[in-house]
Amino acid sequence: MFINKNTKERFRKMDCIFCKIVKGEIPSNKAYEDEFILAFHDIAPQAPVHVIVIPKTHIQSANEITAENSDVIAKIFEVIPKIAKDCGLENGYRIITNIGNDGCQSVKHIHFHILGGKKLAESLG
Ligand code: AMP
Repeated sequence: MFINKNTKERFRKMDCIFCKIVKGEIPSNKAYEDEFILAFHDIAPQAPVHVIVIPKTHIQSANEITAENSDVIAKIFEVIPKIAKDCGLENGYRIITNIGNDGCQSVKHIHFHILGGKKLAESLG
């Protein structure tokens, strides 16, 4: 059977765990929510505070940001300081987004890690 690119994309979105978290099909420990954005505590935290911030719409990664979908990304960066404050990150924090296989992106729905609550390692690579 021939499966075209759009069909594959639809199946991939149906399978996306972060889309399932948005729909409430998978539970999450929410840190922030509005009409466009959801933030929840990472299930396997890599710092005392580790929050994942996502757009509710499916965008695969930062490599797929366009003029058509970038509004929600701007909104994410507007709410991150509020989330960080609510989580007690007065001394600073790190925002990370992984892209693709070499970037070690395990969930193919764009997300921003907020990491903090301690002095983080200086090394990034
Ligand atoms: P990345 O490796 O950049 O794709 O990050 C994906 C992150 O999502 C990892 O830090 C995972 O621990 C986290 N994660 C995966 N599934 C869940 C879940 N159900 N609830 C919360 N965090 C999750």
